[in-house]
Amino acid sequence: MATKNDYRRLKDEADIAAVIAYLNIPVKKMGYNYFIPCPHPDHADQHPTNCYFRDGWNNVFCTACGKSMKALDIIMWTLGCSYGEAADILWEIESCPEWYYAKREKKKKNSFSITREEAAIIGIHYPGHLLSPCNISTDKEELNPKHEYDNSYIQGYLECKVHRFTYRDFMTDKQYTCIVKNKALEQIRKFSEIEQFLKELLSIEKGKQDRTTRLLLESCQANKKICVDIYNRAKIAAA
Ligand SMILES: [Zn+2]
Repeated sequence: MATKNDYRRLKDEADIAAVIAYLNIPVKKMGYNYFIPCPHPDHADQHPTNCYFRDGWNNVFCTACGKSMKALDIIMWTLGCSYGEAADILWEIESCPEWYYAKREKKKKNSFSITREEAAIIGIHYPGHLLSPCNISTDKEELNPKHEYDNSYIQGYLECKVHRFTYRDFMTDKQYTCIVKNKALEQIRKFSEIEQFLKELLSIEKGKQDRTTRLLLESCQANKKICVDIYNRAKIAAA
């Protein structure tokens, strides 16, 4: 009986470009290659000329290290998190595929999450990152990949450590689930109103030049369906 999470498939199906973007790692495009500072902790890479990936890859390759590195390791090194946490993040980046959990219903009974796309549809701003200053200098230098300059500071180069957050840093699972549920419901009402309006419009237009209206209606119904799905999941999780 397979009960283990499918880490292998998660790694194999990773879109490394999405992972790198999620981690906010700077990318330099040269031809078909996207170069990044090597994420390996043993490689203090100062210039993004060694480590690269291409569209469709699930890994990056560093010519200096002679190694290919996969998404889970890169997430762990960059965020300083555990393997399990990295897997959860990657699962989310891959839009939460069902196949990941061999026994998802049981394992995830009390855990609730939504994808970034879903969060955008119901108007929840995904928690981002916070900068804490650690050094100031008059010259710009190559930074540790986990650091960045605060561009809003103009009297010098303010080097900051990047702290990443999830909603768990601010509230309990129950509070989060409740907010998502209410937001989803709010959006369901909004999309229903728009849907009603568009249907009335279509009945007036009666087949004349109604293509745009029909497209709007379809998009509205698709978004509403997503909100209903989020709402139902949140309701089950909150119960
Ligand atoms: Zn390297």
